[in-house]
Amino acid sequence: MRVGALALQGDFREHLAAVERLGHDGVEVRTPDELAGVDALIIPGGESTTIGRLATIYGLMDPIRDSVADGMPVFGTCAGMIFLASGTTGVDQPQLGLLDVIVERNAFGRQVESFEADVRVTGLADPMKAVFIRAPWIDKVGADVEVLATVDDPGGGGEHAVVVRQDRILAASFHPELTADDRLHAMLIDLAEER
Ligand code: GLN
Repeated sequence: MRVGALALQGDFREHLAAVERLGHDGVEVRTPDELAGVDALIIPGGESTTIGRLATIYGLMDPIRDSVADGMPVFGTCAGMIFLASGTTGVDQPQLGLLDVIVERNAFGRQVESFEADVRVTGLADPMKAVFIRAPWIDKVGADVEVLATVDDPGGGGEHAVVVRQDRILAASFHPELTADDRLHAMLIDLAEER
């Protein structure tokens, strides 16, 4: 499989390394032509407003929407999840509106409140070590969205969804590309192979 990572901003290189560890080709995507050549797309963590602005400037908003409507699997992590979502609890920002969830940005607190947790994900045998960095949580999920994992906010904010799936769209609040655990990337590749 050729798996692209949206390479406008954020930690796309770490995602491509995970793809290569799994024995597939990792491709940087910055143009509609590059997007057309991949079997699946990863949208990395970083800063979601910046990713959204750059994707607009690079003319990628509608091509990504069209590819996903056409069945291309996509995996968004952290800022990538925010960019995929239909809205945030804060001010408007460029979003793809493909994943029927409302996210709260920086929900777990500031950079210094970044944390790690063992997260049980539906479909994976053992928990994942999940790294949360200024992470969003999911505030509301639409009817077609399956919650695959939740986490209890160590800051006392309660239990919230952090991994979700809607058809071939997968999203996580945390950074699976920063650990050696490639099981969510493998899930994305399975979706591409099924297609
Ligand atoms: N806080 C960032 C945002 O709102 C996301 C952080 C991340 O991707 N690690 O865009």
